Amino acid sequence: MTADPSTVRRLAATVLASVTIAALALVATPGTAPAEPVPRPVSTRDFGNGPDRNAVAATDAGLAAALGASVEEAPPAASSDRAEGYPRQTRLRVYPDNPADRSIKLGLTPYHGIAPKLNDLQARSNRVSAEVIGRSALGRDLYLVTVTAPERADETRRQDRWRALIEDAPWWAARDRELLAGYKAPVWINGNIHGDEWEGTDGSLRLIEKLATATDAGTERLLRRTRIYFTVTNNPDGRIAGTRANGNGFDINRDHATSSQPESRAVRSVAIGAQPLVMLDEHGYTGTTLIEPSTAPHGQNYEYDLYIRHAYANAIGMEKAIAELGHPETQRADIPFRDYAPGDWDDWPPIFTPMYAMYHGAVGHTVEVPLQVNRGAYDSLPVEELRRRSAVNVDVVEATIRAAVSYTDANRTALIRDQIEQFRRGWAGEPQRQIPDGYVPGFGPEDRYSTTFPRAYVIPVGPGQRSPAAAARLVNHLLAHDVRVRRAVLPFTAGGVRYPTGSYVVDLHQPKRGLANAMLEAGRDLSPLVPQMYDISGWSHRLLWGASVGIVANGPLPVFSVPAHRALPAGDVSARPGQDLALTVSDGADAQAVNALLDQGVALRLRPDGTVVVPASARALAIGAARRFGVRFTAAPPGPAGTALRRPVIAAAVAGDELFALRSMGFDVRPVSTAVLNAGFDWAGVDVLMVSAGLVYSALNPAARTALDGFLARGGVVTRGNTGARFNAEAALLPVTAVAGRGDANGVVTVANGTGPVVGAGALPHVFVYSPVWFTGVGAGVTVEQRYGTLVAGHWLPNEDGTGGQEQAAGQASVVSGVAARGTGTVLFGTEPLFRAHPKGLYAQVARAVYWTATR
Ligand SMILES: [Zn+2]
Repeated sequence: MTADPSTVRRLAATVLASVTIAALALVATPGTAPAEPVPRPVSTRDFGNGPDRNAVAATDAGLAAALGASVEEAPPAASSDRAEGYPRQTRLRVYPDNPADRSIKLGLTPYHGIAPKLNDLQARSNRVSAEVIGRSALGRDLYLVTVTAPERADETRRQDRWRALIEDAPWWAARDRELLAGYKAPVWINGNIHGDEWEGTDGSLRLIEKLATATDAGTERLLRRTRIYFTVTNNPDGRIAGTRANGNGFDINRDHATSSQPESRAVRSVAIGAQPLVMLDEHGYTGTTLIEPSTAPHGQNYEYDLYIRHAYANAIGMEKAIAELGHPETQRADIPFRDYAPGDWDDWPPIFTPMYAMYHGAVGHTVEVPLQVNRGAYDSLPVEELRRRSAVNVDVVEATIRAAVSYTDANRTALIRDQIEQFRRGWAGEPQRQIPDGYVPGFGPEDRYSTTFPRAYVIPVGPGQRSPAAAARLVNHLLAHDVRVRRAVLPFTAGGVRYPTGSYVVDLHQPKRGLANAMLEAGRDLSPLVPQMYDISGWSHRLLWGASVGIVANGPLPVFSVPAHRALPAGDVSARPGQDLALTVSDGADAQAVNALLDQGVALRLRPDGTVVVPASARALAIGAARRFGVRFTAAPPGPAGTALRRPVIAAAVAGDELFALRSMGFDVRPVSTAVLNAGFDWAGVDVLMVSAGLVYSALNPAARTALDGFLARGGVVTRGNTGARFNAEAALLPVTAVAGRGDANGVVTVANGTGPVVGAGALPHVFVYSPVWFTGVGAGVTVEQRYGTLVAGHWLPNEDGTGGQEQAAGQASVVSGVAARGTGTVLFGTEPLFRAHPKGLYAQVARAVYWTATR
C-alpha cells in the first residue's frame, strides 16, 4: 500500500523545499534584492532517474491513492545532493514486439518501437535525455524526453534555483537580471493522452530526432536558450489497444483535478517540476485543425490577462505554420476563442491538461489534428487512406510544436515575466485584473470571468472534523498539487471560528492560489450564462470529498503555523477495553476498514441505522484498522444486535470509473453485462448486483433470466442512473417511477438527507450529478433516503419541452431504498456518487447500500 516511491519522494521533497524557502523568503521585505538567491536542493525538482524507481505496481498505487489518507504521499526522504546535469540518459527497457498494436495499421510508431528509438537517439546525441516518470495503469513505462543543449551540473543547479525563485520569491526573480537573461525557457509537449489519437507521439518523435541531429547554428542557439520536454505518449495502454481511455477505463484528460490515475499523476509531476512557460496537448480529430485558446466560460481562477495575450498570438502563429505545410486540409485552423460561441469549447474545469497546467504557470493549448483515423474510420477506410491521413496529422503536430517553440523563443522574456507576475499576484493576494474589451481581438464582456479569493481555507482536526480520513486525504492531495498547506501549532480563531492545534491552513496568499481555490471553492451555476458546456462544469473538493473545511473570507489570519509536509490519518479507538466498538460508515475509508476487518474474519454486525459493530474481542484488529485507514471507532451504544455482515461479493454491470472506485474500497467485484449473463454466469457466492451500465434485463435470454431471478430471490440490488432505473422497472423491484433529467446536466447539488438506513443523516449535504434521475410515485414500503435541493455549481437547464430541469428535480427523491415484493433489498441512486472517482465523500453511500442490500 505505498505509492511509487520516487514520485512520492520527489513531490514531497518539492513541497518541503518550496515551503521552506517560502518561509525564509517571507522573513525578508519583498522587493529587497538578495545578495544570493536562496539555494534549493537540486534534486527536488528533477524527475528522478534510474531503472528501479517504479518498483511498486502502478495499479496498486493508484488504488491506494484513490482513497487512502496516508498513501498518496510518503514522508519526505532526505534529499540527495546528487548534482546531475544534462543529458540524463537512461537505457530504457525494450518491450517485445506486439503485432496487435493498433498504431501499426496507421504506419505510426507502435509503443514497443518508442524505447528503441529513444535509446538510439540518446546514443547519437547529447541533446536528448529520456527518463521514465511513471507507469500506466497496466504497468507500461511513461517516458519523459528532454531536448536541450548539454549542461554541466552547476548550470543545471542554477536553472533549478531560478525556477524555484520564480515561484517562491517572484519579486526577487523579477529583479534578477541574470535570471531574465539566462533562464532556459521550458516548453512541454504532451502526446497521445487519448490513446486512439495517436499522432502527438509521432510528431514529437520526429521533431526530437530533427532537433537531436540538426547541425545548424539556429538549432544550436535555440537549445542553449530552451528546454523542450516531451511526454511522448501519456497513454501507452490506449495507444496499443486503440482506446481513448487508459487500462482502468479512465479518460486521463478529465482526471487532472482528481489524480486518480498514474498517467495523470505522472504529468502532474512534469507540470510542477518543469514549470513550463508554454504547453501543448496534442489530440485529434476535429476535421479542421483546432487550436486553443478556448471559448468562455473561462476558468474564474486564472490570471487570464497574462494567459490570453500569449495564447492568442501563439495560436495565430500555429495556424500560420500549418497553412504553410501546403496540405489542402490544413489551410486554416479553428481557434475556439476566435471562431466558436461561448460554451462550445470552454476552459472552465481544471480537468484538462492545458487548463491544469495554466495554474502552474503555463500558457496551455489543446491542439486537435484534423483527419480522423480512429473509431469507424479505423475499421472502414483503406489502409493507404488511413496512412495518408496520419501522415498529414503528424505534419500538423510537428508544425504546431515548432511554431510554439518559436513563439516561446521570440517572446521569452515576456513569458518569463508573466509567469513571475502570476505567482507574484498570488503571494501578494492581489485581486485579478479587469480585462478591457478588445484586449486581444474579440475579447468582450462574455469573456470576463473572475472570482474573489477568500483569505484562507481551514481543514480542522478534532471534534469539528467530520472525517479524519477525508481531512488527511484532502491535505495530501493539495500538497501533491504543489499547494502550500500549513499546520497550526497553537489553537487559533479566524473568521469567528475557533480551530484546535494541528488544524491545516491553506492561506491563499500563495503562488498557486488559483489551483487551490479552483479545488476548494464551490464554483458557480453557469446555466443562465451559456446554452451548454463541453464537459463537467461543477466539482468541489471542499463540498464533495468528505472533509469539513472552513472558510476565512477576509480579515486577519492570526495563526502560528509550520509548513505541512504530509497529513497523517488521525484515526482512533475511543472506547475502553472490553466494550464493543462502533464504526459509522461515512467515508470510503470507513468501508475499507470494514472490508479489511471482514477479510480478517472479524464477526461484524450491521445495525438498522447503518452502524457497524465490532466485538470487543477484535479490539487489536480495530486499532490496526484505525491506524491504517484513519477511521474512528467509538464505544457501541446500547442497541439492537444487528445483522451478521460478511464480506460482500458484488456482480457489477458498471462503468470503468465505478469498478475502480468499488475496488478501491476493498470490495470483491466481478464485472458482468448482458453478454456475460447470457453466456451463463455462476451466481454462487454473489451477494449484491450493481447495475449502472451494460445490463438490460429484457435483453437476457431465458436461461440467463431464470438464473438472475433465482439470485434476486436471495441477493440485493444497487442501481444508478437511467440504466439502473430501467433494470429496476423491468425486474419489477421497487414501485417507483424514474424521471430522467436533462442528459448533459451536471454539477454539485444540495440535498436533504433522511434517516433511512443507506444514506443516513450524517451524509454530506451535497452530491454530484450527471444526467440526474429522480423518483416519483414512490409506493408503499419504499424509503426516500435523500431529496434534491438546488444546483450550487455546474450547468443544468431544462429540455426544450421544459422538462428535466433543476426546478422539476427540486424536492424530488434522489435516492430510494426498499425491499422488493420478490424479497430483493434494493437501493436506487439518481446521483453520481462514484463519478470518475472524484466525489470521494459520497463513496460511503454506495458502500452502505451494498452492506444493507446484502443483509436483507
Ligand atoms: Zn483527445
